Amino acid sequence: MKNVKDEDVTVFEANKDVYSSSISGIRADGKLFISSEMGGDLDEILLDTDLQKEIVDFYCRVSNTIPETGTQEVNVNMKREFHKYGFKLIESKFYHLGTDKLKVFLKNIYNNSVKIKYIKDGQQYNEKFEKVYIAVGRSGSRLIDTISSKYPELVLQNNTVDLGVRFELPNFVVQELNTMLYEFKVKYQASNGFLVRTFCNNPSGYVVTEKYSNFVTVNGHSFHNKKSSNTNFAILVTHRFTKPFNDPNGYGEYIVKLANILAGGEKVILQTYGDFKKGKRTKKLWNVYPTLDSNEYILGDLNLVLLHKTVKAITEFLDQLENVIPGISNPTHLLYGIEVKFYGKKMDNNLVSNLKFIGDCSGYTRSIVHATAHGILEYLKLKKELN
Ligand SMILES: Cc1cc2nc3c(=O)[nH]c(=O)nc-3n(C[C@H](O)[C@H](O)[C@H](O)COP(=O)(O)OP(=O)(O)OC[C@H]3O[C@@H](n4cnc5c(N)ncnc54)[C@H](O)[C@@H]3O)c2cc1C
Repeated sequence: MKNVKDEDVTVFEANKDVYSSSISGIRADGKLFISSEMGGDLDEILLDTDLQKEIVDFYCRVSNTIPETGTQEVNVNMKREFHKYGFKLIESKFYHLGTDKLKVFLKNIYNNSVKIKYIKDGQQYNEKFEKVYIAVGRSGSRLIDTISSKYPELVLQNNTVDLGVRFELPNFVVQELNTMLYEFKVKYQASNGFLVRTFCNNPSGYVVTEKYSNFVTVNGHSFHNKKSSNTNFAILVTHRFTKPFNDPNGYGEYIVKLANILAGGEKVILQTYGDFKKGKRTKKLWNVYPTLDSNEYILGDLNLVLLHKTVKAITEFLDQLENVIPGISNPTHLLYGIEVKFYGKKMDNNLVSNLKFIGDCSGYTRSIVHATAHGILEYLKLKKELN
């Protein structure tokens, strides 16, 4: 293979067509971010904001879209306040394509790309290839598990899971923040060493449950036309383990399942912040109305589920945030549990020269822009190798 031509490349895709593929961020919503602080862990991508911008432009061009919003401006006084109280404010430029425009993107990109072989679960191929690129995203974790249990030396790192709660409060408490920042993202180092961060802020949004095959977690989202009077965001605490323990996702699953067991099955636990701090079961709510359907939660006590260390990190985070956003730690505000973010195993791309892992399944990316950039960088490396 002297040069890479379309006919030299075969793509194997597990879903029946592009529209049923599990590319979640591309199928729904499609927020694209340009940031040197989020989206993945590869410095060559984080530090190359020009490459990130080129990718955003590419998505806009292929989907014939002028993105909904441009940049987010951070008020310098607000920035100073976050800094004063130990919060790191994550800044980024964002571009929102919209679900309808994503369909156009998928159609255009697949009509002009290489041939795809749609494969069925368990189907075997005996073709030989000079190079194999595995880019199965997070939904392909089963394939990554199979490969890594056979070749454990390919796994560089597998030690992290983020656990926490979905926090919900009335819009008016965070109105200023929501107007100023499209996506409110801060990080905070708690006094017990745990890193706490906010994730996925949904002004006028809704809390939802997310059903996996054997457990139920919480999440949040927002609609374009349907608005609630609450804002929700995740408060996540990073749990990092050391060897010999190597199953952080299993640990996360156990915590989530414990919440489900206490909630009586496929439900999550809801508690007010006041009761959460006191370690007391919530028996009734006051003046903040949950946006999650009442069939999907049980009023309970998250202290029976989360570690004391995790609870301490969350309460310290919220109480400190009160200094910057007065009213945020009001005892009537709601906590839903458990929210979890699983990380992919970090795979070694330098061990076997003709086997590479790209995108989210490599453990190094967590966003559309970074996953795309990872593919481009590996392609450029291949081109260099061939010349
Ligand atoms: C609900 C949700 C919303 C999101 N929203 C955003 C957002 O707004 N902005 C953002 O930047 N990111 C978002 N993300 C993250 C984003 O979707 C991913 O980071 C990105 O799609 C990763 O790209 P990828 O190419 O690595 O994997 P994917 O996009 O997941 O693509 C992997 C492909 O491999 C296929 N596949 C899986 N297993 C196999 C197998 N065994 N054999 C063959 N094919 C297989 C899948 O069907 C899929 O087509 C979101 C994620 C979720 C879950």
